[in-house]
Amino acid sequence: MTAPPSTSCDALVIGAGAAGLMCALTAGQRGLRVRVLDHANKVGKKILMSGGGRCNFTNTGTTPANYLSANPHFCKSALARYTPWHFIELVERHGIAYHEKELGQLFCDESSKQIVAMLLAECAAAGVEIRTHCAIERVEHTDAGRFRLHTAQGRFEAPSLVVASGGLSIPSMGASGFGYTLARQFGHAVLPTRAGLVPLTLSGKHAERLHDLAGVALPVEARCNGMAFRSFLLVTHRGISGPAILQISNYWQPGDDLRLDLLPGQDAEALLREWQHARRDAELKTLLAEVLPKRFAQRLCEHWIASKPLRQYTPRELEGIAALLRDWPLVASGTEGYRTAEVTLGGVDTDGLSSSTMMSRHVPGLHFIGEVVDVTGWLGGYNFQWAWASGHAAGHALGG
Ligand SMILES: Cc1cc2nc3c(=O)[nH]c(=O)nc-3n(C[C@H](O)[C@H](O)[C@H](O)COP(=O)(O)OP(=O)(O)OC[C@H]3O[C@@H](n4cnc5c(N)ncnc54)[C@H](O)[C@@H]3O)c2cc1C
Repeated sequence: MTAPPSTSCDALVIGAGAAGLMCALTAGQRGLRVRVLDHANKVGKKILMSGGGRCNFTNTGTTPANYLSANPHFCKSALARYTPWHFIELVERHGIAYHEKELGQLFCDESSKQIVAMLLAECAAAGVEIRTHCAIERVEHTDAGRFRLHTAQGRFEAPSLVVASGGLSIPSMGASGFGYTLARQFGHAVLPTRAGLVPLTLSGKHAERLHDLAGVALPVEARCNGMAFRSFLLVTHRGISGPAILQISNYWQPGDDLRLDLLPGQDAEALLREWQHARRDAELKTLLAEVLPKRFAQRLCEHWIASKPLRQYTPRELEGIAALLRDWPLVASGTEGYRTAEVTLGGVDTDGLSSSTMMSRHVPGLHFIGEVVDVTGWLGGYNFQWAWASGHAAGHALGG
């Protein structure tokens, strides 16, 4: 018995997420017949859940410095050719209202569903066919240099294949290691992966001292391995989270020294000296509760700082307290892992890819885009901007 014939098109895209849809619509607009295959029951699930349901779809301040990669230069070309302003133009053309939250982060006024609807409308207009519930069983590279995909919905064939299957974060949303396996199958190196933009866990005495403060939030500057992020910290039942911690988590690995400035932007030593001068009889914990959440200030004074009336401190003691407030060492034991991580660090080694087309240097016609590639952005719309930019770069180059 002969196998049924493959359904043919110009390009197959695995993954109907941010990068895959952008790539498909860009290639479709160029007249290519594109088919997108996704094993999930609906497209763009991460877009839907992003930004608390409002999708932080880009950041107007995007620069290559906002990304981590073994090769920090790799992202430059794609980001320069598809900027936040290109995506904003698309959003505006579709009449989607948006606002800037802070630091260039753009969110939909209403819902991330609008971003998915926009991408689907663009794909439909460009003749792109999208199939969900389409698990890919096997990928073959034929002698003729074509890619043949054996799937739950039959065989598909094309001269170009784009892998846009994302990273490992949030497995319950359809995330899989499929893209890495495929990369290895075609001779690509895959750099070690780990959870990024993820809450950190505490253990031992740090956990005991803080866990009942879950819900307490305060502004901090989180520092690790030469990077610093100023934003909020949130104490959780398992450890610490909040934007400052998610950001620094990209730069932290077990055993690394993590420091928190508990009074960011303030001169702690000058403040303590001023208190010693003007409020001599007040206890330190009372005064700290004026500049920190009260329960957090109390806890600091129970375990880290001996509280007494300000007049009783020697200048040297005050210096020591200021140093602690400026540089509070918090020993994280791990991360919450892929279950809650927003992104996956590491992935397909950029050394094997062209930075202008995202095409494999080993296998003509094979492309990798989006999060599956070893390019990871900070929190704040940078990851979607990479998905759009890398998707656009590949979509523009396909079939060329
Ligand atoms: C909770 C959360 C909130 C986030 N919020 C933001 C935000 O506001 N701003 C921002 O910039 N970034 C945000 N991110 C990160 C952002 O969602 C990702 O960086 C981005 O979606 C990556 O796009 P992608 O297309 O590469 O991968 P994805 O969007 O993950 O898409 C991959 C697609 O491939 C499919 N797939 C996977 N394996 C297979 C397989 N074996 N066969 C077929 N299909 C497969 C998946 O079903 C999925 O549809 C958030 C992430 C999470 C988890």
